Amino acid sequence: MRPTEDTYRHKGLRKKLTDVIRTKGINDEKILEAIGRIPRHFFLDSAFDDVAYEDRAFPIGEGQTISQPYTVAYQTFLLQVKPFEKVLEIGTGSVYQACVLAELGAQVHTIERQKKLFDTNKTFTFLKKYPNIKFFYGDGYEGLPTYAPFDKILITAAAPEIPPKLIEQLKPGGMMVLPLGVGDVQQMKRVTKLERGAIKEEVFDNFSFVPMVEGKK
Ligand code: SAH
Repeated sequence: MRPTEDTYRHKGLRKKLTDVIRTKGINDEKILEAIGRIPRHFFLDSAFDDVAYEDRAFPIGEGQTISQPYTVAYQTFLLQVKPFEKVLEIGTGSVYQACVLAELGAQVHTIERQKKLFDTNKTFTFLKKYPNIKFFYGDGYEGLPTYAPFDKILITAAAPEIPPKLIEQLKPGGMMVLPLGVGDVQQMKRVTKLERGAIKEEVFDNFSFVPMVEGKK
């Protein structure tokens, strides 16, 4: 069962979580405030109530996970999201990361390849707060050509290569953040599409994501 009550205890734990993320090096107050406003326990089964605000990833079913809050903050920071930007997220999962982007005022388009996760997670009461999130069932490798181009693209699963169709769907000057690699550990990368179509690549820390898989399920 999904919890629906946000208590003072949860709020206190959330404050502690944002302090932990700040200590680990992400000190963008807008991002920390967004994390402080989103009841992470709403995105997990009530069995996780006691641990929902630990800085860890947790299972959400179908072999997938809700990302570690520090990782969510890290990717969001690299993406440099501004209000009203059109953002494409690959890997809706629990919808937690999409809510962080929505709190920052982005127009979020999020894709999930697993029908079961898509159906279970795209509508629960808390999400009414975010009319600026649009949900799509599909393969993130294809992106959303109908809605392109995007200011920003965020991949929340480990990509073995930079998906070429997603580069095509970026605006000139747009940025994509993704964990790149095939093994257990991936390098966080930020790819910027320059005005003339050339690509700039920057490398950041190592992380461990579930793989980005081709096709729908
Ligand atoms: N952003 C999520 C993280 C979920 S884990 C959150 O905040 O909870 C990564 C998710 O990416 C999983 O749900 C997985 O099913 C999904 N995924 C993997 N490959 C994909 C693809 N090709 N297209 C869309 N989603 C994909």
